[in-house]
Amino acid sequence: KELLSFLDSSPTPFHAVESLKIRLLKAGFKELQEHEKWSIQPGLKYFVVRGGTSLAAWVQGIKPPSDSGFRLIGAHTDSPNLRIKPQPNLIQHGYHQLGVEVYGGALLSSWADRDLSLAGKVYVKSKSGKIKGHLLHHQEPLLRIPLLAIHLNRDVNEKGLILNAQNHLPPIYGLKTQNESKQGIHQLLSELLKVRKEDILSFELSLFDIQPASALGKNHEFVVSGRLDNLYSCYCALCALLMDSETESPQTRIAVCFDHEEIGSMTTQGARSSFVSSIFKRLNQIDSHSFERSCALSMMISADMAHAVHPNFSEKHEPQHFPQMNAGPVIKINAQGRYATSGISEALFDQICREREIPVQKFVNRTDLACGSTIGPFISGSLGVSTVDVGAAMLSMHSVREMGGTLDIDWLTQAFRGFYTRQDLE
Ligand code: ZN
Repeated sequence: KELLSFLDSSPTPFHAVESLKIRLLKAGFKELQEHEKWSIQPGLKYFVVRGGTSLAAWVQGIKPPSDSGFRLIGAHTDSPNLRIKPQPNLIQHGYHQLGVEVYGGALLSSWADRDLSLAGKVYVKSKSGKIKGHLLHHQEPLLRIPLLAIHLNRDVNEKGLILNAQNHLPPIYGLKTQNESKQGIHQLLSELLKVRKEDILSFELSLFDIQPASALGKNHEFVVSGRLDNLYSCYCALCALLMDSETESPQTRIAVCFDHEEIGSMTTQGARSSFVSSIFKRLNQIDSHSFERSCALSMMISADMAHAVHPNFSEKHEPQHFPQMNAGPVIKINAQGRYATSGISEALFDQICREREIPVQKFVNRTDLACGSTIGPFISGSLGVSTVDVGAAMLSMHSVREMGGTLDIDWLTQAFRGFYTRQDLE
């Protein structure tokens, strides 16, 4: 239930970070700002946000990181979706519509015929001239991308649905009435946020499906929602960090939830940015090579979702590797380095699961199919930190409504706890 409410309250990475912040503050974590001086005390709990959409939370170890290393779990806050263009207003054949761009590898057809709404951040000029960011989470059905009737697209079932991203995606949100002078996105936002439309400077808004997350199946064995990839992993990582946050440990345990994984991570707050390395440096003494020594002693779990075998398309999977939902975390392995898992990191994670009696699965892609990737390779490569790519098995990845396993929430969280509290890495 907690995961479902986290998913519902997090239609965008801005909201996900806000939801995480509330839980961290409740648990006694102190918020730090990147522009301030930090004075870090062993055993205390901190978090820092970058760009409003990436967050790092940690429990400082009793020993300095250069003597005991970091235990890092990385996940991502963003999910593929449709973003509103800067000048989106369209009136076509009497319909009010909004121009949209595709963010990440969205499964476009899944966005059609859903009841959608708007969420994100709107930047508004205040009276003093300062810029204020307003969070928007409009919870009423507002927009829709209607499918073309089958009578006008007779062979759609045989040939498949083809959607042109420019022409076929602009959602409808109203009908033009006569004598209408003031319409469009600025008018809409000014009404929703109670601000003057002339003061709206910019916005980062995306569409989301308003249907709430829910449990599904004869025994509620599935969880269905938008953004399971990868809020599911963010949630499990944070739970694992919070559950043992009162227990002292020599190593510094840290969870980082990055934005922009779905578009390649090369942004101010993405996994290829300085976010993690700058935190690692600041948590070390400024003596000779303490940062490098801490990295050499560290280990990371790159937590992202995995593809469960689809019963109707099992030929898409490697026949010796059929990950199942509710059958425990999946270790993801790729010979081309699309996942960061190495022999030793795989062995260590497998061992952590065995010790806690958590079932564990292994995944490789079919050899003749290109493999997806995660934040694992970037961070592992740039910091030199041994990394294992792990995730819960799911179906419908990158659909507007995805499907995961209910039991895996606990399996994954318990495995993360085992990782955080383990003293020796070998
Ligand atoms: Zn993902």
